Amino acid sequence: MNNTVWIEDVTGRDGLQNEPNPVPTAQKLALIRKIAAAGLTRIQATSFVHPRWVPQLADAEELSRYLFEIPGAQFSALIPNRKGYERAVAAGFRHLEFVIAASDTFNHRNLNRSTKESLSLLGEVTELAVRDGVELRVGFSNAYHCPFEGTISAPALIAVARAAREIHPWPISFGDTDGMAFPWQVREAVTLLQKEVMPNLSQLGLHFHDTYGRGLANVYVALELGVRNFDSTTGGLGGCPYCPGASGNLATEDLVAFLQGMGYETGVDMEKLLDAAELAITFSSRSYQGRLLRAMRPNAACSVAK
Ligand code: MG
Repeated sequence: MNNTVWIEDVTGRDGLQNEPNPVPTAQKLALIRKIAAAGLTRIQATSFVHPRWVPQLADAEELSRYLFEIPGAQFSALIPNRKGYERAVAAGFRHLEFVIAASDTFNHRNLNRSTKESLSLLGEVTELAVRDGVELRVGFSNAYHCPFEGTISAPALIAVARAAREIHPWPISFGDTDGMAFPWQVREAVTLLQKEVMPNLSQLGLHFHDTYGRGLANVYVALELGVRNFDSTTGGLGGCPYCPGASGNLATEDLVAFLQGMGYETGVDMEKLLDAAELAITFSSRSYQGRLLRAMRPNAACSVAK
């Protein structure tokens, strides 16, 4: 069994988009530099959405001007539509994540269109990406639960994933946007996906939030099924601006420590990662949401002192 796990650190995008106050571009770059220096080789740095929706990431172009000078990492950005695609490619990105909600209600609330309309838009953007040689991951938000519709069944999720796969040949990811997933749901979804849509799980990434403390339990069940790609944020920053109470992505340092202890290779230097986590939490309006920094560095300023 393959022992290497790939982590996509999404602090720059999912972490910072949820902070009430925008972080200055230079400080975002300083944080991303530290995350890359810790050995995270896949970094989702920003998103190209309308600045009115997510003002925290309105500096995507400005950030991109300096981002690609940072050595050692492959950078990605999130896009919701064709305009986002064009902006991201013009800014230099070659790896993008196109977001679709597994729930139709959430798709309407978050993206102002139906899931079906998002799939047809995926078709258009896929054509552009093939033409431009850009890799496009499809990220399904609310893969297991929707704040408006409730639990998303595995067959419902896999039906959307199948539709996307018929359009698009690249990786997909399932996002537990509000942190409500239980391991049994992850097992059902991954098992059904592998059986019916994607025999090779190297093309699947999973994105967990730790809102209810289930992040690592979900990672564990996925590892046992053969999943080797996970998203997380340094310092456990983030949440979801459209999900009330959805605080905290799974912290990269908690994930790395768990993986290392379980015998997986991540290529991450823990001390440098904890340095990055200490910087990350200075940008957060909340107390530290992860575990490891508190355990390993008792003197780190984990509470809000502002
Ligand atoms: Mg998220």
